[in-house]
Amino acid sequence: MPQDAAKDEEDEGDDYGGADRGRRDLDDYYAGAVGRSPVVAVPPPSTLPQRVAPGTVYFVATPLGNLEDVTLRAMRVLREADVVAAEDTRRAGKLLQLLGIETAAASARQRGSGRGGPVLLSHHEHNAKQRVPDLVRRAQAGQVVAVVSDAGTPGIADPGALLAAACATAGVPVEPVPGPCALVAALSVSGFPCAEFIFLGFLPRRGAALERKVAAMAADPRPAIFYEAPHRITFTLAALLASGQGSRRVLVARELTKLHEEAFRGTVAEAVAWLDSKPPRGEFTVVLAGQGSGGGNDNSGGSDTTSDAGSGSGRLAAALVHARALVASKGVPLSGAVRSAAKEHGLRKADLYRLAVGPHAQVD
Ligand code: SAM
Repeated sequence: MPQDAAKDEEDEGDDYGGADRGRRDLDDYYAGAVGRSPVVAVPPPSTLPQRVAPGTVYFVATPLGNLEDVTLRAMRVLREADVVAAEDTRRAGKLLQLLGIETAAASARQRGSGRGGPVLLSHHEHNAKQRVPDLVRRAQAGQVVAVVSDAGTPGIADPGALLAAACATAGVPVEPVPGPCALVAALSVSGFPCAEFIFLGFLPRRGAALERKVAAMAADPRPAIFYEAPHRITFTLAALLASGQGSRRVLVARELTKLHEEAFRGTVAEAVAWLDSKPPRGEFTVVLAGQGSGGGNDNSGGSDTTSDAGSGSGRLAAALVHARALVASKGVPLSGAVRSAAKEHGLRKADLYRLAVGPHAQVD
């Protein structure tokens, strides 16, 4: 992945596509979509044998980044729904616009009145208490409800799960409209043996709960997949490193299907060094190879990105993050943390200590 100036400009959270490898930014799509033809046309109803069923709640998977990953069925259900319940209505509104689907509000504005499209409603963890029963009531009254999350498959590590449970309790039919899902996308290209795997969603932030998850992953022969935020990923991988998992193989998938997509392959220690070498940005999904599985690949076997992880500076960076993690998560005094990390990474304690207390170091 070239390290060009455009990287500094990137809008990580809001793009459907990219310029490289045939992708484009959401803004490009969006500019083309405003007042002109949709980017992707929904096929005419006559070519589609199925119809949406009144009184059903559809869980509709949407693209992680690349608009072309939307399915024909997702487009039809979104167009024919009475209601689209979205985690972020602004983002969902853009998606619908790109698909040429007018919302009720937009069509009323344009035509002066009339329904013309689904009503867009917000549905997120902060309004679930009111919104979930509201959506169930709408379905019971015969409306077609489509649920979308920010991206990917609703209900997987996002608010959709509560609604699915409420529908099951109320006897309201629920149908999945399968499609993109970050965990499946990352696992599918990991190359790790994955006849069985575990998915941990977002890991606990810190403390004993995080340690328990880390210990469970450390002992598990199955690959573990988890989601992580950019400001936390270095800490989480450093916690794995601090628990003795530094040589486990890992895939760190960043910005899957988007313009700045990257896949880092290497050991946990190398991944920590890679992340520490630049501020992590964008969306991350991590696949940790199963304990004892070998992981089936190595850094020379097809990394999509470059790093200095194996170099002296990379090792120093990994050791530094390791020492920080020992201080932050276990309360180990700095000198002890530096001693352990230096030993683990085969470095001289004095070198690491100098780096840790240097002008740019923030150890405690
Ligand atoms: N339900 C969605 C799914 O399973 O596809 C995921 C929802 S969860 C709230 C969002 C997390 O998924 C992000 O914080 C990130 O960890 C992961 N994710 C989403 N899009 C991604 C992408 N393009 N590349 C890598 N990870 C992504």
